[in-house]
Amino acid sequence: MIKHVRTRFAPSPTGFLHVGGLRTALYAFLLARKHGGEFLLRIEDTDRTRLVPGAVENIISALQWAGIEFDEGPGKNGPCGPYVQSERLPLYQKHAQELLAAGHAYYCFCSAERLEMVRAAKIANKLPPAYDQHCRNLAPDVVTQQLQGSTTHVIRMKVPHEGELTFNDLIRGDVTFGYKTVDDQVLLKSDGFPTYHLAVVVDDHYMNISHVIRGEEWLSSTPKHILLYQYFGWQAPLFAHLPLMLNPDRSKLSKRQGDVAVEDYRQKGFLPEALVNFIAFLGWNPGGTREFFTLDELIQEFTLERVGSAGAVFNLEKLNWMNQQYIARMDSDELLKHVKPMFAEKGWTNFSDQYFKEALVLLKERVILMPDFLTTGPFFFEAPTSFDEQLKAKNWKAESAEYIRDVARIFQALPAFDAASVEQAIRAYAIEKGVNVSALIHPLRLALSGAAQGPSLWQMIAVFGKAEVAKRIELACKTLG
Ligand code: GLU
Repeated sequence: MIKHVRTRFAPSPTGFLHVGGLRTALYAFLLARKHGGEFLLRIEDTDRTRLVPGAVENIISALQWAGIEFDEGPGKNGPCGPYVQSERLPLYQKHAQELLAAGHAYYCFCSAERLEMVRAAKIANKLPPAYDQHCRNLAPDVVTQQLQGSTTHVIRMKVPHEGELTFNDLIRGDVTFGYKTVDDQVLLKSDGFPTYHLAVVVDDHYMNISHVIRGEEWLSSTPKHILLYQYFGWQAPLFAHLPLMLNPDRSKLSKRQGDVAVEDYRQKGFLPEALVNFIAFLGWNPGGTREFFTLDELIQEFTLERVGSAGAVFNLEKLNWMNQQYIARMDSDELLKHVKPMFAEKGWTNFSDQYFKEALVLLKERVILMPDFLTTGPFFFEAPTSFDEQLKAKNWKAESAEYIRDVARIFQALPAFDAASVEQAIRAYAIEKGVNVSALIHPLRLALSGAAQGPSLWQMIAVFGKAEVAKRIELACKTLG
């Protein structure tokens, strides 16, 4: 019986937070929030050889950026701390001793060379490279002698020789492993550090974790963990192993085929809301066709029952689309908050908020990532001073200067300078001259923006304002001839 939902995200600080890790953290967070429980962050740093400096800080800041807030964890007081495994060593050592005393574990004195020989021989015989249990039945006096000598030792768990273990996975249903396929796992290493397997069980127990949510790669470790729960006489938590994340070619998601660190997406200017929304759907779906969910809406909708076991393809095009949609749905105040610092770096400061906002609304449809605002719309903030020769050849004719100077004069006389009046005036002038309106549109756009494409010309002109338009037309006519 699950009384109270407590979930955890338990990364090893071996690198920057991976998008797969973000999904694990997200699902664990959503489940805890949905049921009014707690979400914990626990740092699993027992493999000292794989620690990467700065990884813990990165994991914490990436979670924070994504809006996934932990209730207990490093830097936060909690009833079950410390939340960093290297600060809990005596607890693991005590529990390894308990297993020894109860006959569920044994000392192993095998040297690294011997273990390697055993491994190689097993592989040569096409057997799983498991430990051969050489030390499992050493006589007690031999053990005592060895312990007093200078050989180093580890502590291994005893896995039954016969039978099988079945457990229920909340995503996969019943899963069975024959004990023959389960290794006598090292629990405590010679340096006194636990392995992941001992530490994860002890901590999930003492941190009162109700649901262990983690990647599929840990499925085959679960029988070891469940055995340990049995050995300790503890109730095991519920398990949910999330499907793999895949590259578009359905291989396991890898760096070689694209970015895998949350940090990369953050740096590129993806919005956390869009990335989280996208990631939520990699394995889960709410049923129906709705695709846009805020974090709060995800909390309401999320259930483990709707997580599938099939691998989920990380489709970058879909993520781009989602980010674009988030930008397109932002109002101008929010957009301005995002881009103002970026614009300031460019020196685009001399404009009213109103002007910025009007420009952003016109540009946002064409933007996938926030930094795209810098490249899609510089002409809103800087008049073009030189013109591409090819564009000029295509869009600027001998009579263009005459036409658009006329247009500038017509603009001066317009009582209202909104997009509709601008459009009307230009169309009327085209009729009067007996030319196609495109003979005005192309040179005007070139003169005003230096580009062949962009937002609606009429709206752009209205945003620039009469004075700026007049100035730019004059400048362009002089330059383009
Ligand atoms: N430390 C493991 C990892 O890095 C945690 C696995 C688990 O959640 O049990 O993914």
